[in-house]
Amino acid sequence: MDYIKNIKDIYFGEGAIKELLKDSIFPHNFKSKLFFIDKFFMKKKIFKKFISNNDSVFYVDTSSEPSTCSIDKIIYDLKKKNIPDVIIGIGGGATLDTAKAVSNLLNNCGPSEKYQGWDLLKKDGVFKIGIPTISGTGAESSKTSVLINFKKKIKLGMNSRFSIFDKLILDSNLTKTVPKNQFFYTGMDTYIHSFESLHGSYKNSLADLYSKEAIKLVVQVFNSRNIKSKKNRKNLMLASYLGGLSISMSMVGVVHPLSASLSVIFGIHHCLANCIVMRAIKEFYPYNYNEFWHLAKKQRIFIPRLNLKYNKILFNKLINSTLIHKKPLQNALGKNFKKILNDEKLTELFKKM
Ligand code: NAD
Ligand code: ZN
Repeated sequence: MDYIKNIKDIYFGEGAIKELLKDSIFPHNFKSKLFFIDKFFMKKKIFKKFISNNDSVFYVDTSSEPSTCSIDKIIYDLKKKNIPDVIIGIGGGATLDTAKAVSNLLNNCGPSEKYQGWDLLKKDGVFKIGIPTISGTGAESSKTSVLINFKKKIKLGMNSRFSIFDKLILDSNLTKTVPKNQFFYTGMDTYIHSFESLHGSYKNSLADLYSKEAIKLVVQVFNSRNIKSKKNRKNLMLASYLGGLSISMSMVGVVHPLSASLSVIFGIHHCLANCIVMRAIKEFYPYNYNEFWHLAKKQRIFIPRLNLKYNKILFNKLINSTLIHKKPLQNALGKNFKKILNDEKLTELFKKM
């Protein structure tokens, strides 16, 4: 049996952000709101009209991805103040995950790493509204909040039904300002989640439907002339939403553990790290490898090369940091995944990136 929890209310369409001006979107008798907004918008006027004097705003610096340390620090500071009634996350995956993690930890005590894993949170967090400003990670609809744990050298989510937003505003006008390369990197995250899910052994027929639809939309968007047209921004937002639902019921595969290792060891951001990993995974996903590189080439997307020279200490770190993600690797390659992904194979893969 699969358990599915849906987001209660979704406001979808250009200009949907205006819903934030109506009290009806918030819980009854709410007093204070806490906004987590991507720092990109700090000096811009766009969200100012939604913020009142009683509200607090935390601008999220996305130059590094959220970690157990960064979240614990926010919680420490917040606990000295009044706990807000509503949390609103406005931004990309990093900001949305920050909003979700903080919401969870305000009502579940202890450090964030205590909840990294599956179904470890005990109760609902603070009421939370998600508003993506870039499409692809599916953080808006998924049931996880991904945090890097530098101490354990792992990137792992708080996977729980409590990590799901209560409400969503999906307004494709908000993604207008995303630079083209970033639009591709993040957009491709939903494509990669979706094909990994479809190729895995943790099968779920509903997830398969969402994944297939997400892939179809992403390919349409990145096969077109103007990937940031009105229609394409809307379709990519839909694809991201569907991809997030899909991955909540299924599991990623080989790409994400390798990508997580690049994020933990080199601090490369998730979606760019995925694209770099795509250079190495032809033998596991030949069709999607070809399709991905066809689209990247067509759109003239810059994907850097790592050109790693062999160094035993570094490669051991990369290998260990990959193999620690057992669940997705088992999903993709079976229980004996370490026989396929032995040190020699992993070294070869990292050298291809
Ligand atoms: P991000 O949130 O870091 O945003 C990417 C970049 O785009 C940043 O520089 C940001 O400032 C900028 N940006 C965002 N909106 C913009 C806009 N409208 N105009 C101009 N610039 C804008 O990255 P991301 O790719 O959205 O998300 C990656 C993060 O999401 C990682 O931390 C990853 O671990 C996490 N993630 C979470 C899930 C989940 O289900 N919770 C799934 C996949 C990835
Ligand atoms: Zn991802």
